[in-house]
Amino acid sequence: MTLDALGRPLRSLRISVTDRCNLRCRYCMPEESYEWLPRNDLLTFEETARLAGVFASLGVDRVRLTGGEPLLRTNVSTLVELLAADARVRDLAITTNGVLLAENAAALRAAGMHRVTVSLDTLRADRFAELTRRDLHARVLRGIESLAAAGFTGTKLDSVVIRGRNEDELGDLIDFGRTMGAEVRFIEYMDVGGATHWSLEQVVSRAEILSRIEERFGWIEPIAETSSAPAERFRLADGTTFGIIASTTTPFCSTCDRSRLTADGLWYLCLYAPRGVDLRGPLRAGATDDEIAQIVRSVWNARRDRGAEQRAEMPDRQVLVGIERLKRDPHLEMHTRGG
Ligand code: SAM
Ligand code: SF4
Ligand code: SF4
Repeated sequence: MTLDALGRPLRSLRISVTDRCNLRCRYCMPEESYEWLPRNDLLTFEETARLAGVFASLGVDRVRLTGGEPLLRTNVSTLVELLAADARVRDLAITTNGVLLAENAAALRAAGMHRVTVSLDTLRADRFAELTRRDLHARVLRGIESLAAAGFTGTKLDSVVIRGRNEDELGDLIDFGRTMGAEVRFIEYMDVGGATHWSLEQVVSRAEILSRIEERFGWIEPIAETSSAPAERFRLADGTTFGIIASTTTPFCSTCDRSRLTADGLWYLCLYAPRGVDLRGPLRAGATDDEIAQIVRSVWNARRDRGAEQRAEMPDRQVLVGIERLKRDPHLEMHTRGG
């Protein structure tokens, strides 16, 4: 096991396969146009799989593809095949906005993808268009419906809850998840890079989420978990389960075993980290797997990041990064480092 300076193991790797996206969610990509990563900088699938193998040799057993929108990366199933071939990867998942899911679900499954998480903040097409600035709600719903037919189980639906946008839909989202055989997870609105319109007033806290759900469904039972997964899980009287990811009001940095690899091979130890470690450079300069593993091990051993906890301790919490700084350094963006 590879431990950091606070005793946290290196277990979970999120791989962003592209910084591009076909939506413009207001809490993530509020601008219309962005500076994209240069194509030549993007890791090839072979390079990505090689780095993932190095991470697996150091204890990573959970890998999640993300982005940007990961299904925009051409032939992403080829990468899935390479990752799925590594028996050390016990859990292989993808987070997608669902727009391109219906046409990709069967190929993802055939390539060896284990689980799919779809981001879905609203059941209302008009709200979706307003939130994402694209009129693609029906395609997302079709994408979610296609998962069971493709043979997927363990599907999750992630909803960012924002005051004045969708906090009145929590119960409806749980009902929808139940009919789709998917577990809904409510995510507190986070002040990550990209969220340039964030304010504390718009955050709907874990406590408020629970009380709204209790109002609708009655008694809620917490489910005891032993895993380091970020979601706390709960059960309703009828057995339906749901989760809450309270990254803003109740951060879970003390058990965080996650790190992130950008599409151009920068490795971030924390969602809030100002800088990443360049792994593409050594990779393309001919470093061996052992040499790259040595870099990763020594960086992880020194890790002390606890970004969300530090943000929660701030007396006057404002947006993390302003638009000008984001334009100068797109690696600070949530859609570049992956959620
Ligand atoms: N495009 C894909 C999607 O939306 O599922 C994958 C990448 S997206 C950056 C990953 C997750 O980050 C999504 O579930 C999204 O809702 C979440 N996210 C983005 N900005 C956020 C914010 N400001 N607060 C909380 N979650 C956020
Ligand atoms: Fe929305 Fe995901 Fe695209 Fe961000 S990366 S704008 S959360 S779909
Ligand atoms: Fe982990 Fe950083 Fe998120 Fe805390 S803020 S849970 S250390 S990624």
